[in-house]
Amino acid sequence: MKKIAVFTSGGDSPGMNACVRAVVRTAIYKGLDVYGIYRGYEGMIEGDIKKMYSHSVSNIIQRGGTILKSARSMEFKTPEGRKQAYENLVANGIEGIVAIGGDGTFTGAKIFQEEYGIPTVGCPGTIDNDLYGTDYTIGFDTAVNTALEAIDKIRDTAAAHDRIFFIEVMGRDAGFIAVDCGIGGGAEFVMVPETKTDLNKVVKSMKNLRKSKTSSIVVVAEGDEEGNAEVIMNKVKERIKDENKDFKVTTLGHIQRGGSPTARDRVLGSLCGMAAVEGLIAGKMNCMAGVMNQQIVYTPFADCIGKEKPLSNEHLKLMEILSI
Ligand code: ATP
Repeated sequence: MKKIAVFTSGGDSPGMNACVRAVVRTAIYKGLDVYGIYRGYEGMIEGDIKKMYSHSVSNIIQRGGTILKSARSMEFKTPEGRKQAYENLVANGIEGIVAIGGDGTFTGAKIFQEEYGIPTVGCPGTIDNDLYGTDYTIGFDTAVNTALEAIDKIRDTAAAHDRIFFIEVMGRDAGFIAVDCGIGGGAEFVMVPETKTDLNKVVKSMKNLRKSKTSSIVVVAEGDEEGNAEVIMNKVKERIKDENKDFKVTTLGHIQRGGSPTARDRVLGSLCGMAAVEGLIAGKMNCMAGVMNQQIVYTPFADCIGKEKPLSNEHLKLMEILSI
């Protein structure tokens, strides 16, 4: 293998730049030529591919977002789009690919590789932490810390006015961000898609809040089946029927995707980037490089996207204990 390419795709996440940097530098260290594909699959189809050098990735490790840009490409979901992408890779002599993204990115990579056979190794770039085959995904730690900072600030104003705040955090269909924010932010409740929330229980305990508790924080994962934070707040408000209780909603939104990556995300991104290139050189394909129990692990794309990554029961138990 002489030439490889790297791209970032789907939702951007802090630490993607550290990952790109590690891919580029590991490739050069190992004597390969490395190309950057801009805007994910969109750039692959349009031929937006440029050679990268060690200096191309200087001074980016501390930056959020991705220097390669990211995009969601409808065209790549069509056979015609993928054919065009393949022709562009062949024209540039690309023999291996590092795909940095989430489950959608890996679904596309799996289909593409099975159609055209260009070896692809993925790196888990998503804030949601919803990929099987890695303890954490690149960007998760930063997203949790960003959300926590906001929750701490909301708690100040919640306490000043004796308010009950419903705070919606990201995570798609997974509750990892919500659970860590709930524990770290001292929330009274966390609502996640993985477990059924008993709203009556929420209402009951809110009615019986300790006198010393001046405020309440409820963290709601965006994918919760009861609805978004506003819908849930209205359901609870309706059942509590107490004019003296003041309810508010805050949706944290895209701030959770931005910002300078934490040390954890920079290290994880760098490790996965290095492992992806080493994997390609060793003949690995159709798999993701992740880190589990401090070890680099390669997991088939089929498992990364097909197997469920469960929330930790210990975390859920802890949440319940600490909220009394
Ligand atoms: P995140 O979890 O952060 O949103 P993601 O990688 O899951 O990241 P998606 O938008 O779901 O983000 O997927 C990224 C891209 O992968 C899509 O825009 C599309 O181009 C490609 N993709 C997703 N599913 C398929 C599919 N079934 N066939 C081909 N390509 C796909």
